Amino acid sequence: MQKSQVSAMNSSLELGRIMGIPVRLHWTIIFIVLFIAWSFASVHQETGGIVYGLGGIEPVALRWIASLIFSLALFACVALHELGHSYIAKKSGVKIRSITLYFFGGVAAMEEIPRNPRLELKMAFAGPGVSGVLGFVLLFLGLQARAFAGSGSPLTIMLSDLGLMNLMLMAFNLLPAFPMDGGRLLRAWFAFRMPYVKATRKASDIGKIFATLMFLVGLSTLNFMLLFVAFFVYVGASEEEKATEISVSLEGIRVKDIMSAKVQVVVPEMSLEELKEMMFREKHRGYPVMSGGALQGIVTLTDLQNVPEAERAGTPVGSVMARKLYLIGPQEEASTAMKMMNELQIRRLPVIDEDQLVGIVSREDLVRAIELCSELEH
Ligand SMILES: [Zn+2]
Repeated sequence: MQKSQVSAMNSSLELGRIMGIPVRLHWTIIFIVLFIAWSFASVHQETGGIVYGLGGIEPVALRWIASLIFSLALFACVALHELGHSYIAKKSGVKIRSITLYFFGGVAAMEEIPRNPRLELKMAFAGPGVSGVLGFVLLFLGLQARAFAGSGSPLTIMLSDLGLMNLMLMAFNLLPAFPMDGGRLLRAWFAFRMPYVKATRKASDIGKIFATLMFLVGLSTLNFMLLFVAFFVYVGASEEEKATEISVSLEGIRVKDIMSAKVQVVVPEMSLEELKEMMFREKHRGYPVMSGGALQGIVTLTDLQNVPEAERAGTPVGSVMARKLYLIGPQEEASTAMKMMNELQIRRLPVIDEDQLVGIVSREDLVRAIELCSELEH
């Protein structure tokens, strides 16, 4: 999964950097760590010589401390899985902005997902590969601990259960559906034989069939976890398909091809009342604010609406405009503009060439371009 990095940043804590990549924790992780520790401390089951859960450990303090360590170690394993993906990506020149650990696992925010099946195959495999190796090594260590301290010792239980969990993490991620690694493996496999969009569509279709089967099994056994995963897989498959189609259909189109070059600008001294009339007249929802030949900010309908009707005549544009500007160059890819707008949750970007405002590109411009391109393709 790669999405809404900006909102993730606001609610996450940076742990540190590994291989130069910031590793972050999403705040929801705290509850999940505690929940897993609690579940692990409450279960005690023995099957095939392996003890599941630390529920049988006495004294209680040791049980809880060991459970908490187990839960934290599990998340460290999830982080290693993500770092596996990132290591291959970095080695091949793909920039990784950050890794955020969520309750469902990790998310590596990549600058650009390579449209290269060989690389995608390697990258997608690296995560489950790491989990698989961790699983077998931990199970092996668990066997050693068992010979040494017995099957009921906290160390034996922690090692062998952690080993099993890693193997499950590997298996879960190999499900042939987006956003799981298995979905990417499948697409890369198809992409050797057919165009990328077609390969994505095919992999996404298989993911949806898979999700539907999971849903039916979940429904007939009343397994809510399975229903939840099925839903997650279905949405993931559809989103990946849409994102790929958009970035492929915008391929080769630059910002200058779709931007509005005749930019109407406003001055910071203009009142909001005047701005409202201007928006009404020209049917634009946002304007760059210029003063002395320099771009000062951008003012939108939302900024206007935040000010009560009665105060608009006395409020200048300069006091409500957004001063933090995200800019784009005319030579940039249109898909980059799309990505920026999605991540920053904004609707328009001023286009700047050699310090001069040369245009403005809006979400509507992008949508029109996508529609036109898919019109021409069919
Ligand atoms: Zn993965």
